[in-house]
Amino acid sequence: MNTDIFNFSPGTKTTGELDVPGIDWKLPYTAVSGCRPGKTVLVTAGIHNAEYVGIRAAMRLAQSLSPDEITGQVVILPLVNRSGFEHRTMSAVYEDGKNLNRLFPGDPDGTASDRLSWFISQTLFPGADYYVDLHCGDGFEKLSEYVYCQGAAEPEVCADSERMAAATDMPYTVRSTIGSGGAFNHAGKMGVPAVLIERGSQGLWTEEEAQKSEEDVRRILKTLGILQGKAPEPRPHTILTHAHYIDAGQSGCWYPERHPGDIVEKGELLGTLRDYFGSVLETHEAQARAVILFQACSLSTPEGTPLIAYAEWENRERK
Ligand SMILES: [Zn+2]
Repeated sequence: MNTDIFNFSPGTKTTGELDVPGIDWKLPYTAVSGCRPGKTVLVTAGIHNAEYVGIRAAMRLAQSLSPDEITGQVVILPLVNRSGFEHRTMSAVYEDGKNLNRLFPGDPDGTASDRLSWFISQTLFPGADYYVDLHCGDGFEKLSEYVYCQGAAEPEVCADSERMAAATDMPYTVRSTIGSGGAFNHAGKMGVPAVLIERGSQGLWTEEEAQKSEEDVRRILKTLGILQGKAPEPRPHTILTHAHYIDAGQSGCWYPERHPGDIVEKGELLGTLRDYFGSVLETHEAQARAVILFQACSLSTPEGTPLIAYAEWENRERK
């Protein structure tokens, strides 16, 4: 496996663009290599290209980190789905319309999205000791901020992932039970502890939100001993699990009843899917007491796309 791209000279900051086999555009990156040897942290954003808070946070981090304050190295790719960004799709890869975060580990003989996933999983992950993936609600999503930790990897990987999540300034950590498809999930399968940060939504962004996600990455880097400075006290964070992801069974109009971040009781109405004449196609109720993580904010919800996601407390008795 080719991990040469992580061999940067100590004490340097390098910017450039990586060639991806079979794709005719390049991936921008910044590598900050400390004077002292140590672990390598990979940071990506823009796997979903309309999730601007994560992208802007990665750009800020790339501009602000200095080799003097680093032990080991931090490699930042702020715009993984560059073609989607430049054609302003709503997070699909422009060439093939696919959702990159469903394809990992990818396929070297597939379409552009498959090849890009393959490059990341085969060339970048093997050289990374830790991984942070920055996301945000998509243009059609409204979400409450939270962080995902890995729950379907080896126990020591999951433990490191949870420690990284605990370093962030987030109210909730959602423990994922999925071990494939997404970059963050697949990294776990390959033995790389990772977290996925969700902040901001609806295709909007502010410097304040981006600064918060940048700060979360800095807190993780301090906790891992990569970035100088005192590691933050792990904040008492609430772990959510048993996540429910509800997709539209058919195309229609989605009328949510509640908001992301709301706590709902078992049996409470979450929303209805209706046709263009107002007739109810689907009714969705909470299956358990839970926190709403995100929901569609677009009136249009095509078949198979997310309507709402909510998660229960790890200890179901605890609030
Ligand atoms: Zn995303």
